[in-house]
Amino acid sequence: MNLILLGAPGAGKGSQAAPLKARLGVPHISTGDMLREARRSGTDLGRKAAEYMDSGRLVPDDVVVGLVEERLARPDASKGFILDGFPRTEAQADALMAMLERNGRTVDHVVQLDVPEDVLVARLSGRRSCPKCGRPYHVEFTPPKNDNLCDVCGVELVWREDDRPESVRQRLRTYEEQTAPLISYFRNKGLLRPLDGQGSVDVVLDRVRAVLGG
Ligand code: AMP
Repeated sequence: MNLILLGAPGAGKGSQAAPLKARLGVPHISTGDMLREARRSGTDLGRKAAEYMDSGRLVPDDVVVGLVEERLARPDASKGFILDGFPRTEAQADALMAMLERNGRTVDHVVQLDVPEDVLVARLSGRRSCPKCGRPYHVEFTPPKNDNLCDVCGVELVWREDDRPESVRQRLRTYEEQTAPLISYFRNKGLLRPLDGQGSVDVVLDRVRAVLGG
């Protein structure tokens, strides 16, 4: 299955991708994770991306499209994919549709997670994650069992630079201006599956499974 998860920062794309990946047996491709990994490795691309990411702005389309094209060409993506955080602009969406078409592939569903802005802000500002396994936590809603340590790895959780208040506001503005137009883009292609993204991960997962057909 070829799936896109669409939604604002904090809508729960990453949280849904984790169980869906296991269920569908396809890779979870998060451009945010790929860019953070490039930064950690200190590559040229990572350095270039850093200034955009920290200020809550989008990394240029050609950089991200190149990353995704390479990733989709890897063997594990031949059975399908879950795209999280990509596409984020109409240019990226056009590039994705064109690269899939060149390979005789298509998108099956665009699951749009709809969450009101006040809930997004509350989710993002309390979000923490494990730097080792990427597992997400929330200081209030899903805290770790032991003080600020990952339940699985035992390492100290991190607070992403761009989850701090100033960046959060900019990221939500960026989403409204550049990414929200993709809702009508995919609706016009008959691919949009909008659903309520509020509630626990399991509750939302049931809704996602219902629109994907079980
Ligand atoms: P995310 O983890 O998806 O919220 O992404 C974190 C940051 O990475 C974003 O705020 C952007 O700066 C950058 N980023 C991730 N995906 C994209 C994309 N598809 N296009 C441009 N920038 C992106």
